[in-house]
Amino acid sequence: MRTQLVNLGFHGIGHPIGRDFGVGERDYWVSPKLFQATLEACVRRSDVSLSFDDGNWSDIAVVLPALREHGLSATFFINAGRLGQPGFIDRHDLRELVSAGMRIGNHGLAHLDLTKLDPARLEHEITQGRRLLEELTGTTVDTLAIAYGTYNDAVLEQLRRLAYRHVYTSDGGAADPEAWLQPREHVKAQHTALDVARLLTQD
Ligand SMILES: [Zn+2]
Repeated sequence: MRTQLVNLGFHGIGHPIGRDFGVGERDYWVSPKLFQATLEACVRRSDVSLSFDDGNWSDIAVVLPALREHGLSATFFINAGRLGQPGFIDRHDLRELVSAGMRIGNHGLAHLDLTKLDPARLEHEITQGRRLLEELTGTTVDTLAIAYGTYNDAVLEQLRRLAYRHVYTSDGGAADPEAWLQPREHVKAQHTALDVARLLTQD
């Protein structure tokens, strides 16, 4: 049996700065304490893949130093249309993540629910974000995390057509590392270190 992978997803650490929580977002910001405990549990776990969505300020101020301290790397799923807005990282921060060896993935241009867009707007949301991220980082961006975790057949068809290597959902459960569609487990505000340990072992 192939080794299963746990894709562990985070959003912000601490609290937003310079903006309010978005609708439903509060549940996805975790305490610095839980974040540190999670990273400690992930050291030497080659079967765990970390990702951070939305490009929050904490990516550069909290997450990057902590990843370096623990010798870990991660994928940052960024909304190019939010770069430099209050509470979000800017293009210089994006380059700093890349030069630190972090991977950059697309999270849509403007963090829209992909299932609510007509075909033209859907294409714009997922191709423009990618194009901007590739221009700004000088790297290939071939992974995408679906904003809000909501998708349907039309969304998946478009993402396949655009040749994404992996697409990340919020479906939960362990992942086959070779699969195109990668489920993720999100660490949430209400979780304890024990909950995270359960996510990591998929008990
Ligand atoms: Zn998001």
